[in-house]
Amino acid sequence: MQYWSKTYIPTLKESPAEAEIESHKLLLRAGLVRKIGGGLYAFLPLGKRVLEKVSQICREEMNAAGAIELLMPAVLPAEQWKAGPRWNVVREVMYSVGSASKSARPTEEPQYVLGPTHEEIITPMIGSEISSYRDMGKTFYQIQTKFRNEIRPRYGLMRAREFIMKDGYSFDEDDEKAEATYHRIAGAYDKFFARCGLTFISVEADPGIMGGAFSHEYMVPAEVGDDDVVYCEESGYSANVEKATSGIVPGDLVDAEPVGDLEKFETPGVKTIEKLAKDPFNIPANEQFKTLLFVGDEKLFAVVVRGCDQVEEAKLSSLGYQVIRPATVDEIFEAMGAYPGSLGAIKGTIKDRPKLDGIFGDEAIRLIGNGVTGANEKAMHVKNVNVSRDLDLDRFGDFRKVQEGEPCPKSGKPLKVARAIEVGHIFKLGTKFSDSDQWGAKFHDAEKQTRPAVMGCYGIGISRTIQAVIEQSRDESGIKWPWNVAPYHVIITVLDSDLEEAASLAEKIGSAAEAAGADVLVDDRSERPGVKFKDADLIGIPLRITIGGRGLKEGIVEMKLRDQKDVRKIAIDEAADIVASEIRELASS
Ligand code: ATP
Ligand code: MG
Repeated sequence: MQYWSKTYIPTLKESPAEAEIESHKLLLRAGLVRKIGGGLYAFLPLGKRVLEKVSQICREEMNAAGAIELLMPAVLPAEQWKAGPRWNVVREVMYSVGSASKSARPTEEPQYVLGPTHEEIITPMIGSEISSYRDMGKTFYQIQTKFRNEIRPRYGLMRAREFIMKDGYSFDEDDEKAEATYHRIAGAYDKFFARCGLTFISVEADPGIMGGAFSHEYMVPAEVGDDDVVYCEESGYSANVEKATSGIVPGDLVDAEPVGDLEKFETPGVKTIEKLAKDPFNIPANEQFKTLLFVGDEKLFAVVVRGCDQVEEAKLSSLGYQVIRPATVDEIFEAMGAYPGSLGAIKGTIKDRPKLDGIFGDEAIRLIGNGVTGANEKAMHVKNVNVSRDLDLDRFGDFRKVQEGEPCPKSGKPLKVARAIEVGHIFKLGTKFSDSDQWGAKFHDAEKQTRPAVMGCYGIGISRTIQAVIEQSRDESGIKWPWNVAPYHVIITVLDSDLEEAASLAEKIGSAAEAAGADVLVDDRSERPGVKFKDADLIGIPLRITIGGRGLKEGIVEMKLRDQKDVRKIAIDEAADIVASEIRELASS
């Protein structure tokens, strides 16, 4: 039993200006966290309790799935990251912590970095432990502070520079076993998020810089999320928009025959798809080819999509580039001999074609057949451009962003799009990390052949999950904690705390509640009732018991669920039993 006066729960009446979204405001107002710096938060006692509960549920589900807990350091040798397969990408987000020698100068290459994740650390470590197939089939995890130099930390714990993650890594003998592990961990994730009281969906995701075979993200639908999820209620299809496809290009599409010779025409002042779609040209956006240039690992390349489509940059990593950015105007001019607004990928019109590492056509441009594109000349466009005859394409691929209402790739019904918060991400990695002689994780199979372990990796944003719960479970008065993650399950609000009788009844009911398995907070402060009720609602304790002088005279205490309006009056003699049975019910529902 915890007395409010003996702990520290600094609730706030007003929302601090730093908080933009409701869950962030409530984290601060309920006294769960305090900001230390941009993206850096202290967990106050109440927040720490929630953190422990969420971590413990995670631990239980990971253990139940056969995973084994360990703990790696957070300060890591930079060398080990440099030797790994994605240093160039990950270094952007890693904090470095100087050199080991005392005389280190700030200009020296860092010797240490703060861990943003641990594939590069656990793979060689396990690699040097294992030798035979008998050592395989293990999944390790840790719950640890991670560090990422996010450019725009925001929304409190949602995108922080230091946050708590559960990260797991599996090592299996072959693909089939690795996939079984993947599904077992996915099952643990389903249970974990459900026990946290979250409504969530698991969606197909883009493995991104992890490479690997496939991956799923765990998404909590919320307006304030950073991700868009595409889904179909009919077929159950769901994917991150970075990965989502639609049935927009039929499998049996026959490419259109040319309709005539290429014909240049003047388009003074026209630099956008929209302008060309208007009078006097009237060329619909879905009949225009849009050419966009990017730089991937220092190489220029072009992507052609329909004028009505957007490029989904995440899909460009399927071209094999690691670091991708839009090309600058100067880079574009050097290669194309023209500026954005006049670009086209027609054979023979590109000033310096060898400068382009490739020109890639989005599949949906095949729907155009014959269309219009820029002439690589100022104020000129070209019509009758036939996809197969005229465009200088290296290959087709899926590079476009799926839009709401397009047909589901499975059912053909209109797709929906919703914002969501990513709380977990699992990857079937394959051998990307393990298949390296000096560095990877290899073993001898039953035939004494050396083979790389087939890996998977599994992340949960523990601290982000806490905020996602608040985002999803709240009202205008405050947080409504789901039972399993509530910092306390029961709050006993003592209205006349100097009454001996009230204090001893609080202790009696509190003990009974604890015996029934609840964590109990007794609000023994000498505040006005209104303040205490408001605070109880704000910090979101699921069950409130109110003990006051008047009730004592009448022989009753009050019981109220945070979730419901009605207040139940219960006789003092029965209070301990009724509270205990209510707790058992809440805990099991
Ligand atoms: P995001 O796309 O949101 O940046 P990520 O793809 O970088 O996430 P992972 O590397 O897969 O994330 O990390 C595993 C989990 O850690 C994520 O699913 C997310 O819940 C959490 N996470 C990642 N970055 C942050 C952050 N800056 N603050 C809080 N939690 C984070
Ligand atoms: Mg990230």
